[in-house]
Amino acid sequence: MSGTKLYEGKAKILFTTDDPNILLSRYKDDATAFNALKKGTITKKGEVNCAVTSHIFQYLATKGIPTHFIKQVSPTEMQVAAVKILPIEVVVRNIAAGSICKRLGLEQGKQLQQPLVEFFYKNDDLGDPLITDDHIAMLELATIDQVAQLKQMALEINQHLQAFFDRCNLTLVDFKIEIGVDASGKLILADEISPDTCRLWDNTIADPTARIMDKDRFRQDLGNVAEAYQEVMQRVLAAIG
Ligand code: ADP
Ligand code: MG
Repeated sequence: MSGTKLYEGKAKILFTTDDPNILLSRYKDDATAFNALKKGTITKKGEVNCAVTSHIFQYLATKGIPTHFIKQVSPTEMQVAAVKILPIEVVVRNIAAGSICKRLGLEQGKQLQQPLVEFFYKNDDLGDPLITDDHIAMLELATIDQVAQLKQMALEINQHLQAFFDRCNLTLVDFKIEIGVDASGKLILADEISPDTCRLWDNTIADPTARIMDKDRFRQDLGNVAEAYQEVMQRVLAAIG
């Protein structure tokens, strides 16, 4: 049973429920890239991303990370705590790939000496531009204290995810998270963690293109997109036990 549609995004639809503190998040097979310039679908992506997010959020909760996840209620739907999403996409990078290579002239695949945290303004009209702490303060997207907490949370989540994906024989290249604020002002990990939002490279394959197991297969038309998503889900489910 679902309530009224609150918001339809590129990958998910949010519905109200009988409880104002709980929302229903429905994962779609729709895929977009390059700020929605490229559109398509990935077979069973909704199921994969819902299952992967459910499992990873439960894993992170056992590590003390507060998340919005409540429970999975169908193959493509989960109940989540309603939060106020900060309009900031927090990206953590362990290896250079994607936009940072273009922006800073780094070689794809270059190991970074230490994890790098970047902030992007979550604004489709502007193309989600990179922003600094000072931009965040100037635009009043979050407080200085929240920015410090965001960085700390992102790095802590990175450590847990790296250890987890290592067990899946996957290298966590980088990932994007969204953070919400609950009624008491506490920061809570929200949205999703999936092959849409992480770069994952298969440790069992040496070829740099063949080993890509995430949305880059869709972005770059590499083929076997749905197969890669299925493989990630299988490994995540197996690693949880
Ligand atoms: P988008 O196209 O904006 O990326 P998605 O298709 O990913 O949207 O749909 C999810 C939307 O719901 C996002 O805008 C995300 O910020 C928001 N969201 C995620 N988790 C929560 C939550 N717990 N409470 C409120 N909004 C949320
Ligand atoms: Mg999204």
